[in-house]
Amino acid sequence: MIPIVAIVGRPNVGKSTLFNRLVGRRKAIVDDLPGVTRDRNYETVTRFGRPFILIDTGGFEPASEDRLLQQMREQSQLAMEEADVIIFLMDGRAGLTPSDVEVVEMLRRVDKPVFFVVNKVDGEKLEVESAEFYTLGVDNIATISAEHNRGVNDLMDEVVAAL
Ligand code: GDP
Ligand code: MG
Repeated sequence: MIPIVAIVGRPNVGKSTLFNRLVGRRKAIVDDLPGVTRDRNYETVTRFGRPFILIDTGGFEPASEDRLLQQMREQSQLAMEEADVIIFLMDGRAGLTPSDVEVVEMLRRVDKPVFFVVNKVDGEKLEVESAEFYTLGVDNIATISAEHNRGVNDLMDEVVAAL
């Protein structure tokens, strides 16, 4: 079975940007994939010679913080059930938010590899500012810029090794 990698996170953190960067032009539509919700974006991707299915969990911009949390719980729950590896994306420009803290608590109890990643770290100044994410108490936090392709290869190297 081809492994599944899910990208989870609040709206606007850059999930689709990362998805598109990883999918690139080598898109392949997976038609018959049992157990995977059809309304989400998924493609087969090959990185470092290793094929996997990448899921971009969707999500609307909710009207309230409560709705946001509910959406993220559902999204994370599905990812925990379906995925072999989870990439939890946060936003280094917006900073750490209460919903990030909550979802991290949920994901750190998962018995699967979870990569905690701060996106939008486009340069070294932001690299320093992203230090607040270490208050999450997570051992390993990767910083990337999906838009500028910074740190993405290193991250995917580790993700592929975890498959
Ligand atoms: P999603 O809602 O999590 O799928 O987020 P999107 O991929 O749609 O991105 C939301 C916004 O963040 C868009 O305006 C992107 O251009 C921007 N964005 C995504 N990645 C980066 C990044 O690495 N750096 C910066 N500065 N902006 C980014
Ligand atoms: Mg999106």
